[in-house]
Amino acid sequence: MESEVDRYVGPPTTRYAYAKEFWVKCPKCSKAARVIRKELVATGDDKLVCHHCNYSEMADERLRYTATINRACGSCGEPIQVSIPNNKEKVAELKYSCPHCHVPEIYKPGNTPYRLRYSMERLADPVFGLPLWFQENVKGETLWAGNKEHLLEIRNYVTSRLRERQTMRITTMVEKLPQFIKAAKNRETVLKAIERMLNR
Ligand SMILES: [Zn+2]
Ligand SMILES: [Zn+2]
Repeated sequence: MESEVDRYVGPPTTRYAYAKEFWVKCPKCSKAARVIRKELVATGDDKLVCHHCNYSEMADERLRYTATINRACGSCGEPIQVSIPNNKEKVAELKYSCPHCHVPEIYKPGNTPYRLRYSMERLADPVFGLPLWFQENVKGETLWAGNKEHLLEIRNYVTSRLRERQTMRITTMVEKLPQFIKAAKNRETVLKAIERMLNR
């Protein structure tokens, strides 16, 4: 008989259950900060908070617009394509001289909103693009977690020797874990990596 201690009895939660808070590397002090989200989709109310250096930032503070003109010149009819990123506000009017006939004209550009990301790292939070705090190399693969609760649940799963499907209704977070985390032969290495992350 398997002992109850070894049986995985974690919650039947999907990955989205862990997507409301991300632990990230603070852009100011490089210690652990948190990205806190109200909804599962990124919104302007999402915020970055660091309890080490007290830095905080709202997602909307990183809102920018790309102003674009894409039309034919009113004077010579040649195509005009302009794209100016990084405007803090919508650009209502843009004076631009045609590169073909050099006649200046005032245009009403289109404005496409986007948010500046701190990095283009793959393992980053979806709002600010800050590198995830919990990342560790395990035999050439990266073990990561979005937040502490997520990491502890992974540890809970890896520790257990008996893993049954918790529900047939959904594919849970732990079932979607990559094979190198689930593999019995990696158990000790994975658990050590998790401990390093928790002690950092
Ligand atoms: Zn900080
Ligand atoms: Zn022109």
